[in-house]
Amino acid sequence: MEVVDPASGVVVGEVSAFSLVEVDEAVARAGAAFESWRKVGPGERARVLRRFAGLVDAHLEELASLEVRNSGHTIGNARWEAGNVRDVLDYYAGAPERLTGRQIPVPGGLDVTFHEPLGVVGVIVPWNFPMPIAAWGFAPALAAGNTVLLKPAELTPLTALRLAELGREAGLPEDVFTVLPGEGSVVGERFVTHPAVRKVCFTGSTEVGTRIMAGCAEQVKRVTLELGGKSANLVFADADLERAAATAPYAVFDNAGQDCCARSRILVQRTVYDRFLELLEPAVRGFRVEDPALETAEMGPLISAGQRDRVAGYVDGATVAFTGSCPEGPGFWYAPTVLLADSPADRHWREEVFGPVVSVLPFDDEADAVRLANDTEYGLSGSVWTRDVGRAIRVARAVEAGNLSVNSHSSVRYWTPFGGMKRSGFGRELGPDALHAFTDVKNVFIATEE
Ligand code: NAD
Repeated sequence: MEVVDPASGVVVGEVSAFSLVEVDEAVARAGAAFESWRKVGPGERARVLRRFAGLVDAHLEELASLEVRNSGHTIGNARWEAGNVRDVLDYYAGAPERLTGRQIPVPGGLDVTFHEPLGVVGVIVPWNFPMPIAAWGFAPALAAGNTVLLKPAELTPLTALRLAELGREAGLPEDVFTVLPGEGSVVGERFVTHPAVRKVCFTGSTEVGTRIMAGCAEQVKRVTLELGGKSANLVFADADLERAAATAPYAVFDNAGQDCCARSRILVQRTVYDRFLELLEPAVRGFRVEDPALETAEMGPLISAGQRDRVAGYVDGATVAFTGSCPEGPGFWYAPTVLLADSPADRHWREEVFGPVVSVLPFDDEADAVRLANDTEYGLSGSVWTRDVGRAIRVARAVEAGNLSVNSHSSVRYWTPFGGMKRSGFGRELGPDALHAFTDVKNVFIATEE
């Protein structure tokens, strides 16, 4: 598989794809490694993960540069992403020693529960955030005592391969964490069909996720799905409009809009609609789209020519309010674009564009805002801008999405659960709950009767 730098369109390397036979061999090795990894004492498992976090930290600049080259992420974002891998490893390094069960009062004996690891876990990662999404799967899975096979996206395998090397260097035994680059229809599909893979942890499109869930059902295989999004940014008339407008571009154009949490639908209360657009325009025009290796870059290119064409297809024929700028010449560039939705039936209002395009629509009152925000098959994240505390809580509770933020746009904090409702998927990553998604509860009763 050729690896391309999206900022220049130039091939920067080649990675060989795993064949079906090689995947089966890797599954067998991971299955054998599970038998010993699960028996490694909690303290030692924690130490290895802490060393892994330390090595990621020591190689942060190298990992970040690799991501700039392979994915076109801005250097600032790529540093955050490598730092997030470190933090997630550190956080779950605390888990093996705290993975306690319960002692439940019952008559006639002692009853205890254990959180048992599942076995071999297959993690399937998309191209938009190659490092963090990989770590959100492999870190808790390893901490809980599973062995992990990780399939990076075809376009972005480099940082995952490097992370696996660092894991080995940190002391993870052979075959405990293996990265298998390759086609989704070969490697990813085999995670679903191979009976020795006991769980699939998938992040990607709703279309592929739906197929994976159906495939896993045949074996009653555990699955968690982190899928698409079409999140709303709700701006009420009483909000700090200057801040809401200044931050809105970052909430959707970050990572060139290739973000499942992108607030790609801006809903603005009708009485401040014109004023909000006036404030939004300079923020969009000033958004710095440039060589992602530059310290000043706020947005880089899209991942591929195909993605750029797909994004452009949503803008053709739509009402463009204003756009930012982007470099010309080689590379897969697209300027930040603000569209005015004529109605909630517009294709760009309903479908996940996964590019630097945002649609704006006015609403009348709180009930209208909630109705429009929920008029989507997705439910991943969203933002509420208001100075009224009661309204902030009411609306945050009423929007059907897994991650809401009030007067901010943050969705991901490694201490807190992250995941979707509706067709954005199910299961939660990060935070204290994720660990249990990689274990099964076992109940043991010990009779005390003579
Ligand atoms: P995709 O579904 O095309 O691919 C995702 C991964 O699945 C890739 O590694 C791919 O090779 C693999 N795959 C493809 N076909 C497969 C199959 N038949 N069986 C098993 N694996 C298969 O998605 P993408 O285009 O790489 O990523 C973009 C999508 O990911 C967007 O919809 C985005 O919203 C979503 N996403 C969601 C989250 C979240 O946390 N909810 C995070 C990031 C991205």
